[in-house]
Amino acid sequence: MCEKLYLRLTSNSPADTLEIARELGAALRPGDVVALYGDLGAGKTLFCKGVGEALGIPPGRIVSPTFTIVTEHAGPVPLTHIDVFRLSGAREADEIGMRELLSGDGVCLVEWAEKIEELLPRDCIQVRFFFSGDDRREISIAAPDLPGFDEFRARSIRFQQGG
Ligand code: ADP
Ligand code: MG
Repeated sequence: MCEKLYLRLTSNSPADTLEIARELGAALRPGDVVALYGDLGAGKTLFCKGVGEALGIPPGRIVSPTFTIVTEHAGPVPLTHIDVFRLSGAREADEIGMRELLSGDGVCLVEWAEKIEELLPRDCIQVRFFFSGDDRREISIAAPDLPGFDEFRARSIRFQQGG
């Protein structure tokens, strides 16, 4: 993958994470896939709420699914929210049609992306979460060269390490 954007951001609160996600959401285009990596409680679902908000989807509609693997949200840009935690791995994901879901027309968010790594598009946007305190998370974002990302870089400057 040719990575053109690499940012390390610090979130000091759930509100910070939501804001970072809204800003990334504003830079996304139909067809983009966002792969979210990180342990339970790291903030992946919260991040999805923020991306959804940027796409006009009320945050209350984006929830951490108990049994659902895929939730599709209609909107000006459709949002597909996928959580593969309960799948055994890429093979099972492939069997339920993951490739088709990942090549849809809307924006696609994938929680626990590490479990289906080999099915992800090469040009997906990778968001990694690391715990660094009770309410603190380090969030790294790697993405190919996308229009709108210069603006994202500029708008997220206050969260950038050393920025
Ligand atoms: P995941 O989907 O990765 O399992 P969730 O988004 O469901 O995680 O939950 C993250 C939890 O961590 C929420 O309860 C949230 O309030 C809490 N939290 C505390 N600080 C942060 C932060 N800086 N960013 C994101 N979540 C945070
Ligand atoms: Mg989650």
